Amino acid sequence: MSRFWSAVVHGLTPYVPGEQPKLANLVKLNTNENPYGPSPRALEAMRAELGDSLRLYPDPNADRLKEAIAEYHGVKPAQVFVGNGSDEVLGHTFLALLKHDAPLLFPDITYSFYPVYCGLYGVDYRTVPLSERFEIRVDDYMKPNGGIIFPNPNAPTGCLLPLAEIERLLEANADSVVVVDEAYVDFGGESAVALVDRYPQLLVIHTLSKSRSLAGLRVGYAIGHPDLIAALTRVKDSFNSYPLDRLAIAGAAAAMEDRAYFDETCRKVVATRNRLAGGLEEQGFEVLPSAANFIFARHALHGGAELTAKLRERSIIVRHFKNPARIAPFMRITVGTDEQCAALIAALKEILPA
Ligand SMILES: *Cc1c(COP(=O)(O)O)cnc(C)c1O
Repeated sequence: MSRFWSAVVHGLTPYVPGEQPKLANLVKLNTNENPYGPSPRALEAMRAELGDSLRLYPDPNADRLKEAIAEYHGVKPAQVFVGNGSDEVLGHTFLALLKHDAPLLFPDITYSFYPVYCGLYGVDYRTVPLSERFEIRVDDYMKPNGGIIFPNPNAPTGCLLPLAEIERLLEANADSVVVVDEAYVDFGGESAVALVDRYPQLLVIHTLSKSRSLAGLRVGYAIGHPDLIAALTRVKDSFNSYPLDRLAIAGAAAAMEDRAYFDETCRKVVATRNRLAGGLEEQGFEVLPSAANFIFARHALHGGAELTAKLRERSIIVRHFKNPARIAPFMRITVGTDEQCAALIAALKEILPA
């Protein structure tokens, strides 16, 4: 605390990201990074960009990248907004589209950055409890609101809301912006991008951090009606006109174009996830159905904090959330390589009495 801080800063409760330990030889399964490297074509494109051109500012509109994203999703470039990680795209979205008189709605168990943005931008919000089975119940969102946001699949549960349910939500909320944060959709969901031409209030947000293995590059994007994109652009151009640097534009565009590598690595992650879920169940875990690159699981006899600490002693890092109390029994385990997941199962066999 400092007397030099503004009142806004005094009032903030910042997001706490998952740990990025500086130690080597860890089995790091705590922040949903992809165990496979980025597309070799993305790396090549970034190498080609490294040179004298870095003297010059990047394209403020990142047109090259917007075209690659539009092409991948079958939309028009005017329906695409790009930013420095989807966290930045989300931040602009809260200010540009979700700050209204009526409260914003989001699930009580969800991405914990949402209430942080509300705090930063003064967005009034209400949380809506998930069902007993940790599912989003669309009927609970059919009340007056100033916007709706949720990840699909949800984080940290991994549970997927079917596209037909999203459509039912959109039908009932024609006058408020509905944001679907699809950070994990490539690991088993159906994208709501298919609905943007029919629902002008729908904004779908993606990241290249998970399924395209570029968390270190910081690239995310939103797809929606050009009027929604224009609002985001107005905020961006009032904040930082050059959010994506030259390397990010080149690497991200090439990653979007390399479908073969993307399909292959997603397929491997999904196959490992399904094996890992089976292995955990054999060890006495209840595993929530996951459509993401992580698994949310609880043991019948041992708490999430205890198991997380014991795994850590064996150099395996997973994520545990103390709050809300309903999810304290769980661990969130990122799907790594088959070898990393086998190491996790072997460690649990040591920890848990047979
Ligand atoms: C990882 C994640 C993000 C942020 O992704 P970045 O593009 O790395 O900022 C956004 N939403 C959810 C639900 C996530 O899990």
